Formats: sequence, structure tokens, C-alpha cells
Amino acid sequence: KACLAQIDAADKEVGSFLKVMTDSALEQAESVDARRKKGEKLGRLAGVPVAIKDLLCTKGEVTTCASKMLENFVPPYDATVISKLKAADAVLIGKTNMDEFAMGGSTENSALGKTRNPWNLKCVPGGSSGGAAACLAASMAPLSIGTDTGGSIRQPASFCGVVGLKPTYGVVSRYGLIAFASSLDQIGPMARTAEDAAILLEAIAGYDPHDSTSANVKTPAYSQSVKQPLKGLRLGVVKEHFGEGLDGEVEASVREAINVYKSLGATVTDVSLPHSKYGIAVYYIIAPSEASSNLARFDGAHYGHRCDEVKMLERLAKERAELEAKKDEEGLKKLDTSLVRMYRQSRAEGFGPEVKRRIMLGTYTLSAGYYDAYYLKALKVRRLIRQDYDAAFKNVDLVIGPTAPTPSFEAGTKTDDPLAMYLGDLYTVTANLAGIGGISIPCGFSKSGMPIGLQLQGPPLAEERLLQAAHMYQ
Ligand code: GLN
Repeated sequence: KACLAQIDAADKEVGSFLKVMTDSALEQAESVDARRKKGEKLGRLAGVPVAIKDLLCTKGEVTTCASKMLENFVPPYDATVISKLKAADAVLIGKTNMDEFAMGGSTENSALGKTRNPWNLKCVPGGSSGGAAACLAASMAPLSIGTDTGGSIRQPASFCGVVGLKPTYGVVSRYGLIAFASSLDQIGPMARTAEDAAILLEAIAGYDPHDSTSANVKTPAYSQSVKQPLKGLRLGVVKEHFGEGLDGEVEASVREAINVYKSLGATVTDVSLPHSKYGIAVYYIIAPSEASSNLARFDGAHYGHRCDEVKMLERLAKERAELEAKKDEEGLKKLDTSLVRMYRQSRAEGFGPEVKRRIMLGTYTLSAGYYDAYYLKALKVRRLIRQDYDAAFKNVDLVIGPTAPTPSFEAGTKTDDPLAMYLGDLYTVTANLAGIGGISIPCGFSKSGMPIGLQLQGPPLAEERLLQAAHMYQ
């Protein structure tokens, strides 16, 4: 009830939620309470409100991906993460805003609402999990679920001053997650502390036969290990993450945080990830390629938005009449009367500009003649990026650096410049390309009062260590 009251009081301005599930949340909470009173054994998240990024299928609840395409889509099943949260007796409090289909870094690409940063309502919350981060910063929920394809958990966490963990690829099942780029997408916990993130990760992680890429490993007791301090922690400062483009205040905060680790007994050395400079180029080939393929399913027939057929037929009749009047035999022969017309029109109306841009980029890089030059080449460099990490982790336990090159910025300042927006992903995309885990934790504020995030990345399946190191700092 306290969370719902805070949503009532603050979310008009912040705009974290696309849907607040008031009735079902109260019902869930009351039923948990009734069971508690009867002395029944309850799940680990009994009664705890969790906000869900609106791209996880939730049975019977509209799941939109913040797109007109799915504005009215009601999934007939729960994503595995949702089933696990329900099994842990969590209370699903609402669905949070995001960039359309998780494509973006400011939540400004949402077709369904505006989200602002609770620390300064002129500024963006980051993205694409902007709503999931903002609702934590504004105390509307203690926990939320985000997804991270190139930084979408870590960067909004850093912009909003909360904790966000992108687990190793495969740790959390993607079943029921509406796909953006399947080889990069990972679901992860967002919270105000590393300890809370550990508790949430424990609830959602685990092998799932419904996801063929899910890791068949035992889920560690993150909630227990998180509080154990790490002895002899070896941190590697990523040389390439302190170069051109890094904001001075972010650098100063992160360097100070590194000193805190030293004072806690960590040894700190420099490491190099030489291929990370290709991260943005590689990511913006691979992610759109996969997206163009994944989003082909939205055809106006199977799922989501379908253009108005009457209008379409009227337009077709008009075109035909015009051609007939002109006696344009050639034009009449070419006149498209096929189902493709509906497909094209539905997609033209259903997808926003950034999604269209990615579909075009992706179909281009996958097309015959360009596949080898772009897509295949990007896959090769992706391997080199992973090998850089493997080499670095021979000498250090975790690598450390900033989460994003700048703190949050004013809404509207980058919307006309996609490349400037893409460059904000410089330090995060390589973890997705390598399949490894990364966490962002707050480490200070800019002079204008915006939060700054520190990023730790670890070798595959090092989530325990990431959470411990984060907790130790906090
Ligand atoms: N900002 C990146 C992009 O626009 C990352 C998005 C994400 O992780 N979902 O692709």
C-alpha cells in the first residue's frame, strides 16, 4: 500500500509505469498475508512488490514493449521469470516504461509514455530499462526487473543512482522475454542495494528447459554469500574506459571509488581490453541484425497491430481508379494487391523510428553481398572482444570502470543524433558481446546533483563475486 501511495503521489511526474496493477497487487498481497496468518510456509519474496519492465510476458496483462505494435497484446502465458516471482510470493506491482523494444538509452523511444529522472525531472532516466530504474529511485518499489542487451540495466541504474546487475548470458531464462537480440539479451535484477539485488537474482535465476541457451548450473545462494567480504580482491582498471569521451566528473568519482577499494584491501592494476574500441561498431551490427530477424514476426497477422483494412482497401481502390483513368497499363500491372501490403502498412504504423532504423540496418547487414563484410566480420571481432576479457581475467578477479561516459542528460538533447546516443553504450556493450556479467552501483554525484555509476565486470558465472564486491563498497 505504501508503494501504491508513492506511485499515486509521484508517478504523474516521473512516469515509471505504463500500467500499475493496483487490484491484482492488493489481491496478491492480501492472499500472502492470509497465508502468513495461517502459518503457511511462504516464498523468499513474500509480499515484496516487484516492478516489471514491460517486455516480459505476463499472463492476462497487457505486455507492450512500449510499442504501438503491441499496445493491446495480452500474452496467454507467463515468462519463466514471472512464474518464478509468483512462486516466490512476490507482489507484481506494475509494468514499467522502456525504449520501444528495448532499443535506446534514454527511454525517449517509448511510444507509450515519457519517463523522467526522479533526481531531476528535466533529465532522462537512462534506458532502455528507464522505468524500472526510476521507480526504484523514487521509492515506488523496492525491486524491479530489467533487461540488458547492451547496457539497458546498468546504464539506467547508473543514471538513477540504483544498483543493476546484468548476469552472465544464460543465468536467467529468457523464456517469455520478447526478444530484441537473442544472443545478447539477458534479464537481471535492479534494486537499491547489492544485497537486495542478490535476493532478487536468487529468485529468478536457474536452468530452464524452455530456454535452450539457459545455463545448466546450480544457482548459488547469492543472498547468503553477498555479505561475505572478499579477501585479496584483485581489480583491473580498464585502460580503454578512461579515454576520450569520458566526462571529468564521472572519471573523478570512479577513481575515488577505486581508492575506496584499495582502502578495503583490494589490489588494483591496469588491464587492457584492446578490442573494446570496436565494441560499438560490432554491437550496432549484431544487435540490429538479430532484431531485424526477431521482429519479422510482427506482421499484422499473427501478433499485435494490424492496419485498418477498410482504409487500406479504400486506398487501393483509389490508386486503381487513378491508374485506370490514366490508362496506365504498366502501373496497373505493378499495383500491389497482395497481403504484403497489409504487412508493410501494419509495420509502418506499428513501429517507431528507432525500431525502423534498426530493422533497416539489420536487414542490410544480413543481406547477400554484405553479410560477409559486416555481419560475419562483426562476429569475428566479437570473439576477439571475449578473448580480451579471458586474458584480463587470468590476472584479475574483476574489472572496474565507469558504467557510462556521462551522467544523465536533459531530455531532448540527443534525440536527433542517434550516433551520440549509441556512444553512451561504450563501456557496457562489450559485456553483452562477451556474454559475461556486469553490475552498476552508485559511486557519487555530479556537481549538478545527478548520480554517477561504477561498473564491475567479471568472468562468466562470477555473479557472486560481483555482488560481494558491490556490497563491500556500499
Ligand atoms: N542502448 C543500447 C541500444 O540502444 C542498449 C539497449 C539494451 O540493452 N536493451 O541498443
